[in-house]
Amino acid sequence: MPRPYNFSAGPAVLPQAVLEQAQAEMLDWHGSGMSVMEMSHRGKEFVSIAEQAEADLRELLSIPTTYKVLFLQGGASAQFAMVPMNLLRGATQADYLNTGQWSKKAISEAKKFCQVNVVASSEAVNFTTVPARDTWKCNPQAAYLHYTPNETINGVEIQEIPDVGGVPLVVDMSSTLLSRPLDVSKLGVIYAGAQKNIGPAGMAIVIIREDLIGQTIAGTPTMFDYAAMAKEGSMYNTPPTYTWYIAGLVFQWLKAQGGLTAMGARNQAKADLLYKAIDESGFYKNPVDPAYRSWMNIPFTLSDAALDKPFLAEAKSAGLLALSGHRSVGGMRASIYNAMPLEGVKALVDFMADFQKRHG
Ligand SMILES: *Cc1c(COP(=O)(O)O)cnc(C)c1O
Repeated sequence: MPRPYNFSAGPAVLPQAVLEQAQAEMLDWHGSGMSVMEMSHRGKEFVSIAEQAEADLRELLSIPTTYKVLFLQGGASAQFAMVPMNLLRGATQADYLNTGQWSKKAISEAKKFCQVNVVASSEAVNFTTVPARDTWKCNPQAAYLHYTPNETINGVEIQEIPDVGGVPLVVDMSSTLLSRPLDVSKLGVIYAGAQKNIGPAGMAIVIIREDLIGQTIAGTPTMFDYAAMAKEGSMYNTPPTYTWYIAGLVFQWLKAQGGLTAMGARNQAKADLLYKAIDESGFYKNPVDPAYRSWMNIPFTLSDAALDKPFLAEAKSAGLLALSGHRSVGGMRASIYNAMPLEGVKALVDFMADFQKRHG
C-alpha cells in the first residue's frame, strides 16, 4: 500500500528513498558492523559521513569558501540567542523585520541581549503581507538586520533578498532553505532547523561568513560560540550524529533530483497548483498578498469553519495527513516541502474539489 501524503509543517515528510536507504543501512552501515547511531562521532566512518554531508550542502548551495557550515544542536530557536551573542561584535543595537510568529520569537529573544529596532512590521494586518522595503526604518548603528524569509505559520515568503547596504543580513530559513537556488554571498548568517526541509529534528544548520565570527559577548557559553564550534568542525561535543547522517542522505537525494534549480521549478509548480485551486474555488481562501505567498507553507480557510472537522477527518481517510492549521491562525495549512511530490498536491487539490462539491 502506498504511504499517505503528509502535509505536516514540521517535523515533516522526508523523501521515501531516503527512509528506505536509512532502513537498509540501519543495522550495518557500509560494512562497518554498526548502525550510524552506534558509531563514535570521531571514528573514520562517521567523520566521512559528516564531511560528505557538508561537501554536498556546499555544492547544492554553491557556498563560497569564505563561509563556515555548522551542524548544531538546539534547533532554530537556539539561534535566536546565538545570533545576538555572536553578531553584535561590540555594538548594542540590531535591526529586525517583523513579518510573522517566528520573527516575533526571534525579536523577543534578541531583546535579552541588545536594543532591538523593529524596522517594519506587518502585525497590524495579521502578517498577511510584507512591509515594502522603502518603508523600513533601518538604524545606522545596527550590527545586523534579521528577517525570516519564510514564515512557516503565516505562509508569507520574501522572494528577493533585500538591499540594506553593508549591514550583514541574518536569515532564519528554517522552512525554506534548499527549496530553490540561493545567493549565499548576499547573506551574513543563514540558519535553519533541520526538521522542516532538511531532515529529522534535533539539529540546526548554520552557514556563516567567517569574518563575522569570533567576537562573542562576555559570558557566551562555548556551545553557543560560532567560532569555537567552527574550529572543532561542529564536534566540540557529541553532535546529533543520526540527524546529520539523514540530512546527508537528503542532500544526495536533492543532487539526484537535479539540484536546487530543478527543486525550485518543482516547488513553484506545486505551489501554483494549490493557490490556483484555492483562488478559483469560491470556497477556500488564502489571506496572503499574492506577491508574498509562500511556496512551502500554504494556509487556507473553508467558507464555513464548522466544516473544518469534517474536512480534516475526510482528508485523513483519503490519505492526506496533518492538514490542520496552526492554532494561532486556524483553518488548514498544507506544508509542501521538497519531499512532497507533485502527485501529493494533485491528490489534495482533487480532494478539495470533491469536498467542496459535497459540502459547498
Ligand atoms: C520551526 C521554526 C523555528 C523553530 O525551530 P526549532 O528547531 O523547533 O527551534 C524557527 N523558525 C522558523 C521559521 C520555523 O519554521
